[in-house]
Amino acid sequence: MAVNCKNFANLIPDFLADRLDNQELSDFLAHLDACSLCREELSTQYLLYEGLERLETGGPFDLEKELEEVKRTARRRLILRQRLRSIAAALEIVTTALAIVTVYVLAAM
Ligand SMILES: [Zn+2]
Repeated sequence: MAVNCKNFANLIPDFLADRLDNQELSDFLAHLDACSLCREELSTQYLLYEGLERLETGGPFDLEKELEEVKRTARRRLILRQRLRSIAAALEIVTTALAIVTVYVLAAM
């Protein structure tokens, strides 16, 4: 499912709770970069999501700055997850190769 202005707002709660999968997160961040309207929408929802809770605890906060940090963290997380997936794929190839070698060695014995 492509991320556009229509469904962007619906994905924001999942984005903030880190429930998007790699593909969704990647599309979400790409749209965020491209669309200033949706950046504003994210700021508004973040303010509601995080700000209300913060008002209750009474701590000081700089939501704009924190939102920047949330976005940076999400990008890092995405890159890390994509890397982990390539490592997992590489390990699978190694495991398969080992299995083939084992079968070959056993057959030669
Ligand atoms: Zn948009």
